[in-house]
Amino acid sequence: VLDVRGVVKKFGDNYVLRRLDLTVHKDEVVVLLGASGSGKSTLLRTANLLERVDDGQIFLSGQDITDPSVKVDFVRARIGVVFQHFNLFPHLRVLDNVTLAARKVHGVPRGEAEQRGMELLERIGLADKARDYPDRLSGGQQQRVAIVRAVATRPELLLLDEITSALDPVLVGEVLDLVGELKDVGSTVLMATHEIGFARRVADRVVFLQHGVIVEQGPPEQVIDNPTQEATRDFLARVL
Ligand code: ATP
Ligand code: MG
Repeated sequence: VLDVRGVVKKFGDNYVLRRLDLTVHKDEVVVLLGASGSGKSTLLRTANLLERVDDGQIFLSGQDITDPSVKVDFVRARIGVVFQHFNLFPHLRVLDNVTLAARKVHGVPRGEAEQRGMELLERIGLADKARDYPDRLSGGQQQRVAIVRAVATRPELLLLDEITSALDPVLVGEVLDLVGELKDVGSTVLMATHEIGFARRVADRVVFLQHGVIVEQGPPEQVIDNPTQEATRDFLARVL
């Protein structure tokens, strides 16, 4: 689904991604690990065209989305994104947050979008909050709404960047459980997280980044439990 080839991204003379190659296959959950500043967010942002690459290409379902002629909005409509903070529109009720993209971007009629939106809210146990504004929900509830909003349009790819790092520890589990359920229904996910336990349970593949290159990747039992690289071992020793 996602094919990152030789991507270079620099800010001034700071090379943040250095000829990075990464493929995410359909229905695969790939977790990015790496120290602060290793380039995880930058990679996710280039995949969503929030940042332009300086070299290399990114393919989404075979299409080169880094080609300047490709329309950014068209690419973003095919990708669901959830960040650490500020995911929901505070002035829109929960259900309107969930249905906005379907209605405005994909032209789904209101009734149909709301029916699907309510189904999604029911699935996460928040149907009774549909008419509330986001500030009435807990942080964990808001992030769960942000996730169902991101999947409401059935995107080809879901990009999740540290979606639990602003949450109270007690709320982290409910958000990560929802990501685990997404996997069961078949979603292609590329996510950055510091939750090693979650990565071990849910990831199909763990990718360890350092200074903008992949140092090591493989199934969690390999990368997390039996890392072969010094850098991976050092990182895990610090976070575990
Ligand atoms: P963290 O775990 O802290 O979220 P990260 O792996 O997501 O870290 P990035 O946010 O991708 O790291 O940042 C990688 C490098 O790029 C850092 O050195 C950062 O200072 C730099 N950087 C990121 N965004 C910008 C920007 N808009 N302008 C300049 N430098 C930036
Ligand atoms: Mg980051």
